[in-house]
Amino acid sequence: MQEDIQEILIDRYAIQARVFAMAQEIAACYGQQEFVLMPLMTGAIIFVADLVRHMPRRMRIEVTAVSSYPNAATVNQGTRLLYPTKFEVAGKHVLVIDDILDSGKTLAYVTTLLQESGAASVKTCVLLRKKIAAEQHFNADFIGFDIPDEFVVGYGLDYNHYYRNLPDLAVLQRRVFER
Ligand code: 5GP
Ligand code: MG
Repeated sequence: MQEDIQEILIDRYAIQARVFAMAQEIAACYGQQEFVLMPLMTGAIIFVADLVRHMPRRMRIEVTAVSSYPNAATVNQGTRLLYPTKFEVAGKHVLVIDDILDSGKTLAYVTTLLQESGAASVKTCVLLRKKIAAEQHFNADFIGFDIPDEFVVGYGLDYNHYYRNLPDLAVLQRRVFER
């Protein structure tokens, strides 16, 4: 696995420091307000696991699965809700957690659906934001790092289902995409 890495973009120590700071930002924003944390599978699993352990407060965690990058696709193929089949969020404050903001289509889709399902408020949080995303119409409320428009893996993010367990955020060797 290590030999497939071209470059480490953000190492595990920088990630931990930033995740800790983000947890404080989020906690300060909600105050005493109870909220539902909605991590998008599977990319957000490691991020959300680290994030919630810095937020010792009353909250629900409801995992959500959408499909936008099937298998080896590296561009958004159209978003679909896979789980749950229907959101039960009427009157609730929802914070959607995703790994990365790229075209913004995934979060725009989920946010709209949650609003249509009667959520009291919907906010979004991403660990990473690509340059291209900063220029789009959709933006997240909480952002960990701004990164260049490269395909990244590690810390939950995959390429073709692999590399999620890398502790650092990395760019893969070009040959990995060619095999
Ligand atoms: P968007 O809908 O904003 O274009 O893309 C968001 C989703 O695409 C994220 O949930 C993530 O799973 C996937 N994605 C976007 N860019 C990357 C990337 O550079 N690496 C990986 N592994 N996934 C990405
Ligand atoms: Mg994802």
